[in-house]
Amino acid sequence: MHEMAICENIRTLIEEQARTQHFSRVDRVCLEIGALSGVEVEALRFGFDVVMRGSVAADARLEIVETAGTAWCLPCAVTVSIGRRYDPCPRCGSHQVQVTGGEEMKIRELEVT
Ligand SMILES: [Zn+2]
Repeated sequence: MHEMAICENIRTLIEEQARTQHFSRVDRVCLEIGALSGVEVEALRFGFDVVMRGSVAADARLEIVETAGTAWCLPCAVTVSIGRRYDPCPRCGSHQVQVTGGEEMKIRELEVT
């Protein structure tokens, strides 16, 4: 499962930060997930609890902020919002759109003790 690998990456990142910034407990993890990143939020929540067991983030609360997908429509020459990667432009229906945002996934915030 793709989401398990993502959770393992997050755990590695958190443990690196725990070492360099000298904290021993994470109370809250806030993740930013783009609507077009292909990450399944429910699967990620499930994987998070499993993967964080025994780590500094074992008791951390997971918060997920979903960010909108954006794309540049060539015919309209404007940035539009799209919900899925291959959606057409909501203004003109064209498929000549290029994704410009919403594909990323990152840790926005860590609340630590
Ligand atoms: Zn358009």
